[in-house]
Amino acid sequence: MAKRRDVIAGMAALPLVAWAAGAVSPAFAQEAESGLDGDRLATSEGDVIIHPVNHASLLLGFRDQVIYVDPVGGAELYAELPAPTAILITHGHGDHFDVPTLEAIATGGIPILTTQEVFDKLPEALKANATALANGDEGSLNALPVAAIPAYNTTPDRLQYHPQGVGNGYLLKFGDAIVYVAGDTEPTPEMLALENIAIAFLPMNLPYTMTVEQAAEAVNSFKPGIVYPYHYGDSDLDAFEAAVGEGVEVRRANWYPNGA
Ligand code: ZN
Ligand code: ZN
Repeated sequence: MAKRRDVIAGMAALPLVAWAAGAVSPAFAQEAESGLDGDRLATSEGDVIIHPVNHASLLLGFRDQVIYVDPVGGAELYAELPAPTAILITHGHGDHFDVPTLEAIATGGIPILTTQEVFDKLPEALKANATALANGDEGSLNALPVAAIPAYNTTPDRLQYHPQGVGNGYLLKFGDAIVYVAGDTEPTPEMLALENIAIAFLPMNLPYTMTVEQAAEAVNSFKPGIVYPYHYGDSDLDAFEAAVGEGVEVRRANWYPNGA
């Protein structure tokens, strides 16, 4: 009997078991903060914290999780920020995917979710903890549900930038709130069919993604609660904001702290 008690005591000490116990205890979860600063969105299981970094790179905090989305720009850019607990990558362009940055920050065997194209370009050490999601696939990051939404161009003279079937946008479910990071895309039927999006991150820059008019039309169609323009370069955000209808909050953040 003594032996069996030792085994059970040993299991309880495993980090995985402790984390699972925290997940079902809101009081515990509230205390387990990510340490990330940023805008907040209240959900049924605590706040999501939104921390823009640069252009397409952003961090999302939730409880003890810090999810890095498309981290590029070198490790120094993230040196003062909480370390990632997971990484999401939308596609292989240099403003979204950078191997040296990943090699510096993706330590400790943290999970990476990405596309097949990016997965194939990862060094072996990072592949070991990476998973490729095809358009439409569902997966998870440290038990947070994630779904891959197709990201692609639809305008004839832009198709070469993001051909259909290569890039992913992502839905992330934080408690009762769904966050949509669109990736590099134009308004697609899949985007316009989305419902109940609490926060959407939408790109707007030519010739690679969409015009501010396209972005505003998309927002007025699928009506996220909040939209963050990101990946916008020198696009006219005043025009975007003016074209977005009632019921959608436009949140402008400083995505280019060092200039566009
Ligand atoms: Zn791109
Ligand atoms: Zn891009």
